[in-house]
Amino acid sequence: MRILSLDEYFEYIALDPPSQQNPQCELCGTSDHLVLRDTARINDDLRVKFSMACCRNCAHLYQLPRFEEHFYRSYYNSAYRRILSGSQASVVEDQISRGEHIYRSLEPYLPEKGTMLDVGASAGGIMMAFRKRGWDTYGTDPDVGYVAYGIRNLQADLTVACAEDMKLEPNTFDFILITGSLEHVFDSNKVLAICRRASKQGALLFLEGRGLALTRKNRACGHSHRRFLTQASIRLFMNKHGWSPMWTTDKELSGPTRPLSVFGLGQSVETPPPPDGRSLVLETCSEAKLADIVRQFDTWGIEISVVTAAHPSNS
Ligand SMILES: [Zn+2]
Repeated sequence: MRILSLDEYFEYIALDPPSQQNPQCELCGTSDHLVLRDTARINDDLRVKFSMACCRNCAHLYQLPRFEEHFYRSYYNSAYRRILSGSQASVVEDQISRGEHIYRSLEPYLPEKGTMLDVGASAGGIMMAFRKRGWDTYGTDPDVGYVAYGIRNLQADLTVACAEDMKLEPNTFDFILITGSLEHVFDSNKVLAICRRASKQGALLFLEGRGLALTRKNRACGHSHRRFLTQASIRLFMNKHGWSPMWTTDKELSGPTRPLSVFGLGQSVETPPPPDGRSLVLETCSEAKLADIVRQFDTWGIEISVVTAAHPSNS
């Protein structure tokens, strides 16, 4: 097992070393945090010195250090696709299947037809279930290859864009879906503010968090997850940006290929709050809750430090 320093990591992904940014919590704005783990997984044999932090104020789980925006743009434009594996066709088949599961799970809450947005849509496979039932669908994704695949093979309405750069008409969508992508974007607040403006009154927002599920599966935090959504932080993000959470769950709403994911459905409120977090209803993280989170990571067997574990004599 090898652990890359930050400099070695930037060399590995072939990007210039970026400068670091203020590490305050993006949800509540405080800087007081506990470092839960101090390495992140690149693959089975490779780690990088990234940390997973837990906000002591609101229990949001996020990656440190945080870098300037330019780094994330370059990363998702070029490095991300080089590192991911799996054939396009099988990934898109899974998207189509998950779309069916999601549609059926949400059918009781959805209007019969409407306009939907998929943020981080990849090839647009999830939207297929909605399109075939008469919905107008639109998706964005920074990945040129998957977007091209979806336009060519699924005739999906897609645009290549980082979620932070989406150009959307106000008051347009009845339903917005973000399955996993909110954990990868560099400015989650900006993305949700854009989505809220583009939502009709009473529109639905469906969020999926998968970062913790993958962390539990791999027993290590992933290096591409900038944050790890929980049912609690899904509610906080919704409240902060003008959706009223209807429910959150860890049931397999998108089928069997995403075990342990968490989901939440919210409805846009009449007057959205200012996107600075002042109106956020905080579920303050008590010491007991923090201790619970720490214990949970130990129970799940998330590796602490591979350096000390593999080479105790060197520590
Ligand atoms: Zn916080």
